[in-house]
Amino acid sequence: MDTTEVDNFPGYPDGINGPSMMEDLKKQAVRFDTDVRSGWATAVDFTGPVHKVTIDGKKEITADSIIISTGASAKWLGIESELRLRDAGGGVSACAVCDGFFYRGQDVVIVGGGDTAAEEATYLAKLCRKVYMVVRKDEMRASKAMQHRVTNTENIEVLYNHQTVEVLGDEVVTGAKLINNQTQEERVVDVTGFFVAIGHKPNTDIFKDWLELDEVGYIINKAGSAKTNIEGVFVSGDAADKIYRQAVTAAGTGCMAALDAERYLAERGL
Ligand code: NDP
Repeated sequence: MDTTEVDNFPGYPDGINGPSMMEDLKKQAVRFDTDVRSGWATAVDFTGPVHKVTIDGKKEITADSIIISTGASAKWLGIESELRLRDAGGGVSACAVCDGFFYRGQDVVIVGGGDTAAEEATYLAKLCRKVYMVVRKDEMRASKAMQHRVTNTENIEVLYNHQTVEVLGDEVVTGAKLINNQTQEERVVDVTGFFVAIGHKPNTDIFKDWLELDEVGYIINKAGSAKTNIEGVFVSGDAADKIYRQAVTAAGTGCMAALDAERYLAERGL
């Protein structure tokens, strides 16, 4: 729902915008009698064989089986200009693989010093003329191998000890104002794309008392399946995936979860 153009989902040769794709997926599910309801899942209770989900803090629904597909949210810097241009579809993105293509031959910034930022910087470097990688410390957190790839790519300039003051532009990105946090010196780089790769937060808080999560909060599924540590509770998509994070991989694990849930119900005659 939060993305604009989707160019990497199979079956859409001309690409599609995110909300339209979601409408298509919903229509397809409804064609098979899916009962689609809106509401926030605010609590769960996985004590017994019948699982309970509280909706909007008041209504409780019960189910023999549950598939969790709550996803993960990209973290943002929280600067007003960044959020405004993100919401306007004006050149601020948290997914280089999804949006990098639009900046072919142009100059861009990517913020972050982890494996994602390093991987996305090298990905962008293949498409863009110049990539400024903005790292807030004097070193990257990314693995040595990833750092090596970055520093060996000619058109990536790593700006250590730099932070973003402002993303420039009224309707579209025209530059970024950066500050060296050691010398307080400011610098403007002329770019048309501003990528943020400072990590994701899985939307799994309501499950933490029941399900096994990793140290960041991703749900741990049993290898090669969508099963969690609770019988009848399955997981798909980015809530359990910090590596691939693509719509198509989420759809694939959604299929795995549906098959696992169907088998679970069939084995119990439910
Ligand atoms: P990480 O949490 O590992 O890194 C986040 C980066 O963003 C850090 O450099 C951090 O800086 C920086 N950062 C955080 N907040 C801000 C901020 N407000 N302003 C500026 N910079 C900020 O997230 P990743 O998404 O990179 O990686 C998540 C996990 O996925 C890791 O375990 C990673 O190893 C793994 N991964 C593995 C890949 C692979 O093996 N191919 C590919 C991608 C991810 P600081 O260091 O100063 O805290």
